[in-house]
Amino acid sequence: MMPIRRLAVLCIVFSLGAVLLTPLTHAADFNVDVKFHINTQRHSYDDVVKWLKANIETTESLYSNTPALKIHPTFVQENHPRIESKTGANGQKYSYLGFNNTSELIKFMEDNFDNQARSKTEGHLTMLVVDDVVQNEKKDKGFCGRASFPHWVNPFGHKLGIILVTCRAVAYEKDDFVDNFLIAHELGHFLSLKHTFEPYINLNPLSVANCNKDFGNHIKCNSCQGQVLPNDEGELRECSGTANVMDYCQSLKGKEVLNACQLNRAAKQRERYQTSDGKTDYQAMAGLRGEGQCEADADCEDGEFCTVGILNLARNICKPKLDRGTLCTTKRQCASDRCSWGVCADPDECRADADCGAGNYCGDPISGKRTCKDKLNDGSVCTKDLQCQAGRCKTGFCSAPDSASMGESCRFDDECREGKCNAPVGGLTKGTCVCNKDSDCGSGKWCDGGVDAKVNACRPKLDKGESCAGVAGNDHKCKSGECSGFPKYVCK
Ligand SMILES: [Zn+2]
Repeated sequence: MMPIRRLAVLCIVFSLGAVLLTPLTHAADFNVDVKFHINTQRHSYDDVVKWLKANIETTESLYSNTPALKIHPTFVQENHPRIESKTGANGQKYSYLGFNNTSELIKFMEDNFDNQARSKTEGHLTMLVVDDVVQNEKKDKGFCGRASFPHWVNPFGHKLGIILVTCRAVAYEKDDFVDNFLIAHELGHFLSLKHTFEPYINLNPLSVANCNKDFGNHIKCNSCQGQVLPNDEGELRECSGTANVMDYCQSLKGKEVLNACQLNRAAKQRERYQTSDGKTDYQAMAGLRGEGQCEADADCEDGEFCTVGILNLARNICKPKLDRGTLCTTKRQCASDRCSWGVCADPDECRADADCGAGNYCGDPISGKRTCKDKLNDGSVCTKDLQCQAGRCKTGFCSAPDSASMGESCRFDDECREGKCNAPVGGLTKGTCVCNKDSDCGSGKWCDGGVDAKVNACRPKLDKGESCAGVAGNDHKCKSGECSGFPKYVCK
């Protein structure tokens, strides 16, 4: 414990200096959201959550130096199809992930359980919890946990989600021992800690951060402060006393620690995972593949859509909405909020009249695009029947048959309910509905033709005694067909 006290004194000196030189920007706490994807057959979901919560508590108390680690967990039931359900020789069920080699495993984690940065300060670390993982099935090489280093260079810059295996959740063959240090160990790697039996390679020649100098001798369980004992497999991996968290060494007393150098190193790494104003920098933790994973469009920025249910990707991501004319399968992809004919289309765009609502027609293309237009009134210039409210385009004008009464304007004879249209043939000039002769008016009526043809009108034939006065030829005005003539001019 001596080194810790000495280091604490040094820290006070340094932080006083820091106050004078630069403003203190790092927050007291390092808050991090962690999403646990749990798939277990060996234990109950609730028991695993309980185990994880105990692990979180241990982890927070270990990494409590500034910025103190505060884990905010979310637990979800994971049902990824790649996770198998197996039955062991003893009939016990367990969930299983098997890979041919390590790169296959890395790819799976990258594609499905990567750390997420929705924005710089929003996201989560990902932890996948299953019962058994084998990374080389031929050699049956399994593990109880796996994490990547922040400076892992192969592949460059990748920071994957952490895998936690329930191997040591409950030691069912031995009383009820519970390992509460698995998260502390795996997160330790993520915070740049190596195993105690591995040497640190310092690229910076000034660095003194060789935290394993006391026991970096490649012998596992070398941190044990007590008696080293064999585990079930006969390996010397159990310790009767206190052991180091980053060792392959399980303390049978349940007491595992980190040394001052490790604590300092992990705290520095947490600071690197913070923004200049002390917030948690999820982009820094997510590495090169840190793009946000989404579950719905609402998770994405304005102008983006979530690929969920659209693209067959292993992970759903936010993508910019597509421009007009780009291939699409749903309107969610389109900036215009419309996907028609397999491409993003403008809201008012059409290819046929059927694409437009009632009262609209699909107009002729203007700069490569046809749009829905209001149907035209009678008399408007047109080229097609469907442009017209009347449903008829006659020699370039919208025209409704039987739409005009006597005296009303018209272009064509058949627009007049009665009589004829006195406009010149062709429709270019308007006329009025008039009659020229009785037959224009139908039965029971006569054509009252004046000097001015425009005021010609059909009138009901006259009863007996009614005046049928006129210039000449007045018989046709009477129902009886006879006008008395001079002097009375009444119908007979
Ligand atoms: Zn490890």
